[in-house]
Amino acid sequence: NNLLNTIQVAKPDKILGLTEKFNQDKNQKKVNLTVGIYKDAWGKVSTLPSVALAQRQMGTLSTLNWNLSYLPIVGCEKYHQNVKNFLFNECMKDLKHFNNGVSFFQTLSGTGAIAITARFLSKFISNKIWLPNYSWANHINIFEKNGFHNSINYYSYYNDTTGKLAVDKWLNDLRINVSKDKSNVPHCIVLHACCHNPTGIDPTKEEWTKIIDTVHELNMIPIIDMAYQGLESGDVVEDAYVLRSCLQDNRKWHNGLYLCQSFAKNMGLYGERVGSLSIITPYESLPSVRLAIDSQIKKIIRSMYSSPPGYGSRIVNTILSDEKLKKQWFKDVNSMVNRLHSIRNKLFEQLHWDDLVEFGQQHGMFYFTRFTPKQVNQLKQNYSIYLTEDGRLSLSGINDSNLDYVCEALMDVSK
Ligand code: PLP
Repeated sequence: NNLLNTIQVAKPDKILGLTEKFNQDKNQKKVNLTVGIYKDAWGKVSTLPSVALAQRQMGTLSTLNWNLSYLPIVGCEKYHQNVKNFLFNECMKDLKHFNNGVSFFQTLSGTGAIAITARFLSKFISNKIWLPNYSWANHINIFEKNGFHNSINYYSYYNDTTGKLAVDKWLNDLRINVSKDKSNVPHCIVLHACCHNPTGIDPTKEEWTKIIDTVHELNMIPIIDMAYQGLESGDVVEDAYVLRSCLQDNRKWHNGLYLCQSFAKNMGLYGERVGSLSIITPYESLPSVRLAIDSQIKKIIRSMYSSPPGYGSRIVNTILSDEKLKKQWFKDVNSMVNRLHSIRNKLFEQLHWDDLVEFGQQHGMFYFTRFTPKQVNQLKQNYSIYLTEDGRLSLSGINDSNLDYVCEALMDVSK
């Protein structure tokens, strides 16, 4: 009895599986609009000027000697100082009295932070989770594989007919279902900090206040997924508003608030896997509680990949600890956002769709077409233009050399 024979072929990854298909496509005009990677006007994934400057600075130091030893399990000390200062000092803006406890870990980008969070929560606190409908395809995968096997719930997020958010329905879903549960197990909830993936639409600040109040009132555990910080407004500090809102007036999250943050998109460090997990606990938590949390997360990390990679964190350290480079980084993020806006505007000009007005509220890397899987398939079959199955289109894959071709194809399949 050979058990290897019983293994079934897994479905290809909903996003990265498409890039594999794209790479095999022989059509010269093919366009990959699947993955959320920022490409410049020439279709290249170029290094941000701030990162290039940091690399040059680090290059000079490298003539002395690079220390290529392992980083500690939780990441390097300098990275802790720099990123914590950035997130919990600079990004707090007017929230001067932030004095909660923060357990901080350098992680394998945002995905790593979410996976560790899932393992930790499912082992020690809760196995119930709410994701928005829609959400990033990998959320389900991560939570399913890390302890939330049978208890993934979905809250209403988006109204397919109107193209608008469904905040009232969202809060109703939570109120009805979470308060009905008398098991005393708190429910976790994933909140996209900004640039909601895939719809590109976020609640207004007023709506966020209502949402966060409700999440708090229902004793839920917020997991803030901040993968696109800066790509909404062009300002990285401004875009941390959901985090600020959750921590306003030193609000306490008794089972912790979990911030999963990534430098993949906003520093263009995709492949270097740099991000962080912060677990924010009420300020009065005993040191022994924090020590227990830290030690358990360390065990989880050690069993998964032992310790994070070093290079990307050195780039982040160099940028965040140098005012000139940090300014340059802020400028770089702004330039990315300006280009994304200009592509969005060009699409609006060329596509003559009645309901484009709603799409005008979208922001960030993606354009949510509301195409059916059949239409998405037509784009692939007839034009070799690749979108994710839910109709999400990654805007920066469009440039002057393919804009007309893409618009013509979009118009054709929308008929
Ligand atoms: N969360 C969302 C919503 C995303 O879209 C992504 C990446 O596409 C991530 C998290 C994690 O990205 P990374 O692991 O590259 O930081």
